[in-house]
Amino acid sequence: MTSLEETAPFRTFILKVANRCNIDCDYCYVFNSKDQSWRHLPVRLGADVAREAGRRIGEHATTHGLPAVHVVLHGGEPLLAGRRHLAELLDAVREGVPAEVKVRFELQTNGTLLTQAWLDLFEKYGVVVGVSLDGPPTANDRHRLTHTGRSSSAAAVRGIELLRGRPHLFAGLLAVVDLANDPVEVHDYLASFEPPVIDFGLPHATHDGPPHRDNPNLPEYGLWMSRVYDAWLARPEHRHSIRMLEDIVALSSGVRGAVETLGLAPPTSKPWTRCAPSKRARPGSGSTSFSTPSTRRRVTLSSCTGRTAGPRSPRSARAARWWRSAAAATSRTASAPPTATGTPPSTARTSST
Ligand code: SF4
Repeated sequence: MTSLEETAPFRTFILKVANRCNIDCDYCYVFNSKDQSWRHLPVRLGADVAREAGRRIGEHATTHGLPAVHVVLHGGEPLLAGRRHLAELLDAVREGVPAEVKVRFELQTNGTLLTQAWLDLFEKYGVVVGVSLDGPPTANDRHRLTHTGRSSSAAAVRGIELLRGRPHLFAGLLAVVDLANDPVEVHDYLASFEPPVIDFGLPHATHDGPPHRDNPNLPEYGLWMSRVYDAWLARPEHRHSIRMLEDIVALSSGVRGAVETLGLAPPTSKPWTRCAPSKRARPGSGSTSFSTPSTRRRVTLSSCTGRTAGPRSPRSARAARWWRSAAAATSRTASAPPTATGTPPSTARTSST
């Protein structure tokens, strides 16, 4: 990369605001992995650090001419920072970023500590909230237990129900895939909370420590997600998006995705934009516009190649099916409301929180 135009600037920044958690998920890469350095770190992010982070984010936004940045508050469990301190951190970050740059705050929580008082604070600062939940209690409690080994599900669901009372603050649900869980059951349970987005994360793994597989000869995680895909499309009333699946369809159609874990190009913070303006469709060449199954994001694709954008490979029957379904959804949802947040959800996915 030789110029700023060719550089994909960071648009999303994660701030770890609390360095402890009130529950004890066995897959947590922060607390239950090899790296135990958290034991020697402060339990909360200091306001001075947040201010400096805001200043650096502001510098970066100015350098790259970014109109907006996305700041995601993570933990541990970020609500352990306490309301007053979190408000101080939000102020500190905002102060560091030039006034003309919009700061979109999001917070990812396990949901168990959410209260109306917290939601009032988020309302005041415009913080949208994502909650981590792996599915119905039997699925969720496979990994997400309290420090005394009890279920965390009821407390998380209580938090989600509070959030549903303020849908404009509800950013979505995040689940970690476990092959032991039934994908359709997990999907349908999460969908029952009517989140704008359901995000699925693969279990934390490395080349040396690959994720659990029952049969290494099968693409088990892909098969699991393909059943989620079918469940997602099975009901026309489903209005949520599933970022991983939408990104796969987008990438298979030559469109840049929104997460960095898929595809070869840097992700875009704008959903479904073309790879490069110079490759936009010539006048009169193919382009298409439709709503995704979520019906909350209107998608306009212009073809780099001059043909109508669509699945490139005739073998991608699933993608073709999705495409047809999405195109059909256009007519049903021409006046669909905008996304709850007005923005694509966080590109940050992690097994923390
Ligand atoms: S995964 Fe999240 S909720 Fe679970 S222990 Fe880690 S920080 Fe806490």
